[in-house]
Amino acid sequence: MPSYVIPDKCDGCKALDKTACQHICPNDLMVLNKDAMKAYNQAPEMCWECYSCVKICPTQAIEVRGYADFIPMGAAVTPMRSSDSIMWTVKFRNGMLKRFKFPIRTTEEGGAVPDGGYPEGSGDLNDHSLFTQPESIGTDLFTK
Ligand code: SF4
Ligand code: SF4
Repeated sequence: MPSYVIPDKCDGCKALDKTACQHICPNDLMVLNKDAMKAYNQAPEMCWECYSCVKICPTQAIEVRGYADFIPMGAAVTPMRSSDSIMWTVKFRNGMLKRFKFPIRTTEEGGAVPDGGYPEGSGDLNDHSLFTQPESIGTDLFTK
């Protein structure tokens, strides 16, 4: 099942220019109905069920079917993100609840170095080299 927005829980991200689910969807599927201030998936058949919108939604308004390899059919999974971990709540068909908490980062929030500490690459987007070459592969074979 593709993503589904629970209308009662969606607040339209409080009328920001772009909602969180619009920002994160790799397929640009989420749109906001500005009259109702509710988001929806405009092309459900294109949804990868990647869970990105589910995880970023600040009001837990989006649901996606849980894959059968980690929960039985009919169960619902709801994530709750914090700055360093994510808590998954699984509600089984019989009403049983289970919660799993996992760390989601190895660096403090805001502490990641954007360039990873590597010196600036060639700056040419058409260059075949990676940004971190040759330092990251220990050779200068692929540099100009
Ligand atoms: S991220 Fe959640 S609250 Fe914000 S618009 Fe999307 S569904 Fe609604
Ligand atoms: S589950 Fe992934 S592909 Fe589907 S709407 Fe959400 S972010 Fe987009």
